[in-house]
Amino acid sequence: MVASLSESISENIAQVMERIAAAARSVGRDAADVKLIVVTKGHTVEVTQAAIQAGAKYIGENYVQEALAKMESLPNEDVEWHMIGHVQSRKARDVVENFAWMHTLDRLKVARRCDQFAAGAGVQMPVLLECNVSSEASKHGWSAWDEMRWPEFAEELAPVFELNHLEVQGLMTMPPFFADPEEARPYFEKLRRLRDFLVDRFPQSSWKELSMGMSNDYAVAIQEGATFVRVGTAILGTRS
Ligand SMILES: *Cc1c(COP(=O)(O)O)cnc(C)c1O
Repeated sequence: MVASLSESISENIAQVMERIAAAARSVGRDAADVKLIVVTKGHTVEVTQAAIQAGAKYIGENYVQEALAKMESLPNEDVEWHMIGHVQSRKARDVVENFAWMHTLDRLKVARRCDQFAAGAGVQMPVLLECNVSSEASKHGWSAWDEMRWPEFAEELAPVFELNHLEVQGLMTMPPFFADPEEARPYFEKLRRLRDFLVDRFPQSSWKELSMGMSNDYAVAIQEGATFVRVGTAILGTRS
C-alpha cells in the first residue's frame, strides 16, 4: 500500500520538478535555487511517510498539533519541517522547538515569543515575514499592499531585526485564489519588489528567500523569483 502510494507520489513529484525546471529556465534562473515544499496538511501519517519515501526533503504543515503527531510517528526521517500556517502566540514554543523554518511570521508579538524560545533553546530560528500584498481583508500577514506606505511598514518591522535569535531570510505571501494563475503574477512581482525595498533598509538580513506559489500557480511564482514553492494538491491529491 505504502509502496504503490509512494510510487504515484514519486511520479507527481517528478512532474512538478520538471515544471519547476521549465519555469526557471524560461526566465534564465537556476532550478537548483527553487526548493519544493510538499504540503502534507490534511493528509495522514501514511501519506506523509510515502511522500518522504518518494523523495520529499521539505514538508509543509499548517497546524501545530497535526504536525507534531506526524513528527512523533516519523521520528527518524531525514526531512525539514516547515511551518506554513498561521501561528497563534501560545504555539510559538512548539513551532520553534519542532520546526526548521517558519514561513508565517506575521506580527511582533509572535516574533518576540519565538525569539525568546529560540534563545532558551540556544538556536537561531530562520523565519520569513508573511506579507499581505493584496488588499484582501481576510488574509493574515503584515499589511503591505499599499506601496506608498512601505517606508512606514519598514519602521513597523524594525523591532523584528533587533531580535537576535530570529534570522529573517525573506518574505512569504499567499495571493487570492485565481483560476488563471497569470492573475496572481502581479502579487508575486510585488512581493519581490517589497523584498528589494527591504534589502536596503535591513542589510543585516540575507533576504534570499521568497516563499510563494502553490499547486495552481507555482510556475508563475518561479518566474517572479520564488525560491520556495509550497505544493500540496498537485502531488498528493485533494485533502479530506
Ligand atoms: C495548503 C497550503 C498550500 C498548498 O496548497 P495546494 O493548493 O494544495 O498546493 C500552500 N501554502 C499554504 C500556506 C497552504 O495553506
